[in-house]
Amino acid sequence: MSKLCQGPSCHRYDTTDRKRGPKGNKRNMTRKVGTYGYGNKNFCTLTCYNDWASEHMDQAIDYIGRLREPKAMTPENSWTKQKRYSWEMDTERPNASEYYYRNICTNEERPLTESQYNDTSYTLNT
Ligand SMILES: [Zn+2]
Repeated sequence: MSKLCQGPSCHRYDTTDRKRGPKGNKRNMTRKVGTYGYGNKNFCTLTCYNDWASEHMDQAIDYIGRLREPKAMTPENSWTKQKRYSWEMDTERPNASEYYYRNICTNEERPLTESQYNDTSYTLNT
């Protein structure tokens, strides 16, 4: 089921697909978020996303907890799952694993199986 766009002014943008109701009494209504939503599928367009952000983003960040100190990249927090393109396998790294962990801080690589790559809860024990 499609969610309603959370843009505070969505109903005020005048497009034909927003017009709903009986003939002679059509009103612009808030859209439902389509297949390609924005902001984690909460908004129908980037304009609606930006309208919401202008009005509520400070409040949302303060509620969740505003970052007060800069974060630092370290070897411990820099592992990312990667997949090589087939052309890389064919030409540049013929003996490399298709799926791997790469440490973007140290450039170290560790091979992964496809199921480890697809398992969102799988992490390296480093
Ligand atoms: Zn909208």
